[in-house]
Amino acid sequence: MLQKLKNQISSRKTLASKMYIIVLIIGTFTNFASFVITCAEQLDKAAIISTFLCFATLGFFWYLSIAKDMEQQLHLPLMIITIFGLLPLAWFYCGGIRSGMIMYFLGCLFLIVPCIMEVRKRVILFIVSLLWLMGIIVFSVFFRPDLVIQLSDREWYLDVLVTLPLCATGIFIITTLVVNAYETERRDKEKLLNEMEMLAKVDPLTGLYNRREMFARFEEGKHYYDGHHYLIMMDIDFFKKINDSYGHMFGDKAIQYVASVLKENACEENDGFAARYGGEEFVAVIRCEDDADALQRAETIRLRIYVHQYEEYPDLHISVSGGIVVINNDTDIAAALSAADKLLYKAKEGGRNRMLNIKTGG
Ligand code: GH3
Ligand code: MG
Ligand code: MG
Repeated sequence: MLQKLKNQISSRKTLASKMYIIVLIIGTFTNFASFVITCAEQLDKAAIISTFLCFATLGFFWYLSIAKDMEQQLHLPLMIITIFGLLPLAWFYCGGIRSGMIMYFLGCLFLIVPCIMEVRKRVILFIVSLLWLMGIIVFSVFFRPDLVIQLSDREWYLDVLVTLPLCATGIFIITTLVVNAYETERRDKEKLLNEMEMLAKVDPLTGLYNRREMFARFEEGKHYYDGHHYLIMMDIDFFKKINDSYGHMFGDKAIQYVASVLKENACEENDGFAARYGGEEFVAVIRCEDDADALQRAETIRLRIYVHQYEEYPDLHISVSGGIVVINNDTDIAAALSAADKLLYKAKEGGRNRMLNIKTGG
């Protein structure tokens, strides 16, 4: 039962819709409770009928909203029927000013907020309803007190005693659910936004940063580069042939493997990163001790890629060529990329499957 109610609320798409259903559910239950209490108090028949009418109307609206999917058309009619029909009826039949009815007035005025989303409509309805309910009080107290069914003092105290927790609990539950619904919606949005931000940064095939994010990383990391950071630019050798001979799907797989090796080696904690610079070209920043260490690390990457056995073609060796340049906090990144590119070109010229730095590449 509770799960069903929860599902009804969570299946609503907008916060306004969630709140509307919450109001109907709580309203139906509170009015049912109030009807039962009126019966138990053995109040006037009219009082019993009016509380039953409130319960039945809210229940009917609830049914129409869920089963007949008529919610959108029902927000305003619900408030109008309640404030201009049910409340006055209950007021006159349940004891008027000498009862707990004033708390229902307050509760219903509060309900205008979650039920009517359009601000202009909400304000107008609130002012008109407030004046209407005040008018009813004035009318019933000063002009026609005879129309109000009078409760005995005992019945009055009892009614107040019961109405207070009923209304307070209703308002408490509604506000809690509304705040929770808002929080859930806010968290979902935040999660979605983070996911979208991530998708905008990451290349979908490899999971590496894309070219745009690569430049952002350089900008961010620049402050931390201290002469121990090295930029490696890498390109897969004879990749057109691989695509032509083994198909683009396998080509994609090879790109993914190369990317995974690079990602493993570029430690973000040391301000490193790996990015897909172009089709089968990659850029990585790794932190090393010195030039020799950087060359050693690049060689390890190259070898790991070269010796990898692809399930489909166990005899195939895919190689990469690359250029390595040291970067500092005052390095012009465009110039560093260009220098690494030149070394990469030399590595290709020199026979491919090799990594060159300034010393080895001249
Ligand atoms: P080289 O050794 O000189 O680098 O020769 P190459 O054949 O590798 O030449 P190049 O680097 O210019 O090759 C780029 C090829 O990569 C062309 C393009 O078809 C292929 N390519 C680019 N992006 C993708 C991709 O996402 N998937 C696949 N399968 N192929 C891609
Ligand atoms: Mg290539
Ligand atoms: Mg290329």
